[in-house]
Amino acid sequence: MRSIKDLEIDGKRVFIRCDFNVPKDEFGNITDDRRIRSALQTIRYCIDRDCKIILASHYERPEAGKYEEKYSLVPIAKRLHTLLKIKREVLMAEDVIGEDAQAKANSLEAGDVLLLENLRYEAGETANDINFAKKLADFADIYINDAFGACHRKHASIHAITTFFDTKHKAGGFLMGKEVNFFSKILENPIRPFVAVVGGSKISGKLEALNKLVDKVDKVIIGGGMAFTFLKAQGHEVGESLVEDNLLEEALRIMAKAKTLGVKFYLPVDVVAAAEFSENTTVKFVPIQEIPKGWMGLDIGPASTRLFREALNDAQTIIWNGPMGVYEMDRYSKGSFAMSNNISQTHATTIVGGGDTADVVLRAGDAEEMTFISTGGGASLKLIEGMALPGIEALK
Ligand code: AMP
Repeated sequence: MRSIKDLEIDGKRVFIRCDFNVPKDEFGNITDDRRIRSALQTIRYCIDRDCKIILASHYERPEAGKYEEKYSLVPIAKRLHTLLKIKREVLMAEDVIGEDAQAKANSLEAGDVLLLENLRYEAGETANDINFAKKLADFADIYINDAFGACHRKHASIHAITTFFDTKHKAGGFLMGKEVNFFSKILENPIRPFVAVVGGSKISGKLEALNKLVDKVDKVIIGGGMAFTFLKAQGHEVGESLVEDNLLEEALRIMAKAKTLGVKFYLPVDVVAAAEFSENTTVKFVPIQEIPKGWMGLDIGPASTRLFREALNDAQTIIWNGPMGVYEMDRYSKGSFAMSNNISQTHATTIVGGGDTADVVLRAGDAEEMTFISTGGGASLKLIEGMALPGIEALK
């Protein structure tokens, strides 16, 4: 993949596909602007080279054709302006490829930045529509993809658009380069012991990644909802905990494979059990063997936290994807925060992937202590699986 550094971009019109899909609270405030900050390096590089810059991103999943305010990128443009610390305002288009976007793009001067509205307001984006892609491509002479988090999707601004630029006019941005290099270096040549910490709700979404990780790592630590499928497969009574019954066999197969390969496999030994899926209910710490019928495990317990800390002690490389419990509720967040603290206190190279996991690390105050926090959850899982990402392939 070529880098923006390899292209002649001075004074040119540059289209940068960013991933500004940041989390917001119920009042519409941006709660974590890491994805916007991660894009600054590429944008500043273009500003310094007197480019006319057109930025584009998706935001969540609006209904195509419907311009709902809650999906608008207006707050992103404001935050971007603050972070860029430039005098000229970041221009905001009222549409994606419509009259306003065209007029504003035509009025750009050297160093100006224009942000198009949410790409998914247009049906052509997710349909990878070539005509829509052509309209986007017409904005610029150069195409830069810095949206690692969206690279596993075959969408118009990621995929179809690249057909309108030859190799001298398209490349990956700095963030993209960093993400890809980090994951390939770690997966190809990790310093051992290499430990994978995997959590989150379900095995199904991470099955392939988990399979590949077992081939590469020395230890696997499992937490979160997915642990219960493994525990049930081992014969434990897990009550009403989240279980994927159709994957019990697969869970046994993964554990057997780990055993054959000499990979140490760690599951929680205790849980925070709740009578129902709510914060306002009776909660108790119980060993895995004692989950009452009808109750559910919503976080790992303190003994699991200590066990996992021991297992992490000698790690030299740690890759973490997925929270240890329902961290969105205070009462079930301790296991995830403790995991974040424990990982950050090791001397290992630590890579965090996935929006939820990054959120845990941020809230736990450990972001500075991690070696690398990936901006792309799904995309990083695909890289771990060894799959080619459409967005990256299209730049080659
Ligand atoms: P994922 O998107 O698969 O990484 O899953 C993240 C989600 O898993 C978070 O929203 C957590 O609330 C949820 N989660 C973690 N542990 C559990 C659990 N024990 N039971 C139910 N959901 C969980």
